[in-house]
Amino acid sequence: MSWRNSLGNEDIRRFLTNIANALGVYVLVVSCMVMFASFILQMDLSEAKYFEYQSIIEIGDFKFHELTHEDVKNMLEEERNNGTKERTWCQFPPKNMHGRQIYKYNLNVPDLDLKKLNSGFQHGGRYVPEDCLPIARIAIIIPYRDREKHLKILLHNIIPKLKRQKLDFTIYVIEQTHSSPFNRGMVRNIGFSEASKIADYDCYIFNDVDTLMEDDRNMYLCNKRAVRHLLTGYDTHGYQLDYLFLVGGVIAFTKEQFLKINGYTNQLFFWGGEDDELYKRMRCSGIKLYRPVDEIGKYTIISHHHDAKEPDRHKVLRENTDNDVIDGVKNLVYKRLEIEYKELYTRILVDIDEKLVRQSFLDALEKNNR
Ligand code: UDP
Ligand code: MN
Repeated sequence: MSWRNSLGNEDIRRFLTNIANALGVYVLVVSCMVMFASFILQMDLSEAKYFEYQSIIEIGDFKFHELTHEDVKNMLEEERNNGTKERTWCQFPPKNMHGRQIYKYNLNVPDLDLKKLNSGFQHGGRYVPEDCLPIARIAIIIPYRDREKHLKILLHNIIPKLKRQKLDFTIYVIEQTHSSPFNRGMVRNIGFSEASKIADYDCYIFNDVDTLMEDDRNMYLCNKRAVRHLLTGYDTHGYQLDYLFLVGGVIAFTKEQFLKINGYTNQLFFWGGEDDELYKRMRCSGIKLYRPVDEIGKYTIISHHHDAKEPDRHKVLRENTDNDVIDGVKNLVYKRLEIEYKELYTRILVDIDEKLVRQSFLDALEKNNR
């Protein structure tokens, strides 16, 4: 006897209805579970992201013992072998530091007091301590256009402090012409590239022209183990950072670190986005970020009007993930117009053609995707 014969039509209908109901409930339960799981997962992801961000930032870097002489000794071996044997290493940490001094700037700054500032300077704005062998050779790179007063104030602020730090430093002012909107990332890339052509530095530090160090214990040194963001708070923001991952203002890279992330993006003209994009590059390459302790990393900001915001900044942040290789310090298109070795700094005037920069990026993109 087949099973069909033992069941009436009604039974079959009921049976099928039951299956349909059961399936419906099943689908409902499963979809609820999927929704719930994705909700949890999303929470997890955002949490994970948060911790991922957190884990690369280590606050409290540089308690003076953190950087060993071993780290920097090798770098200057060459110089030591070249007739400087009679000098001993500069003390580390340096003596006679002043500590934190809130910097009172005056916008009606008089001309640079060269007599006061230029002692110990060599041609082109390189300073080398006379009494000891500096533990590192630093390039300070200042992106610049139309901020003459700020530059004077900055030089007055930073030079005496760096001298007390007993470093071998050269200040580079990278000035962009007016042919295109100001490109903060690219000007920094050019500064790195031009400075590297002049000498091999242990450390490249980008310092905005309006960002004034308050504490001379904030050593302008690099750390091979992490990029150092030297700024822990602005006076204009209650000595806080707007957000944990902000890397603007003043930041220190070794050559290897900067090349590893291919520097800044060249694609952002106008204001904003280049620092966040830089942080993204660091995170993608697994580079750590260190900051000094809060007290030491305090800065005074010279207030000023802001440029128009860069309309593409969110787009570049979103889409540039895989384009780091073709957009950065290794992909520069610019013209160097002048190089001037001044008493306190080397001034390099460059022309950036927005159209050319964008076109060369698109060309590289096309070539890359082929
Ligand atoms: N900058 C400049 N001239 C300009 C625009 C920018 O010299 O017209 C340089 C300057 O070093 C400045 C930095 O780029 O400190 C960052 O730009 P801005 O100060 O406008 O941005 P903020 O950091 O204040 O948001
Ligand atoms: Mn500014």
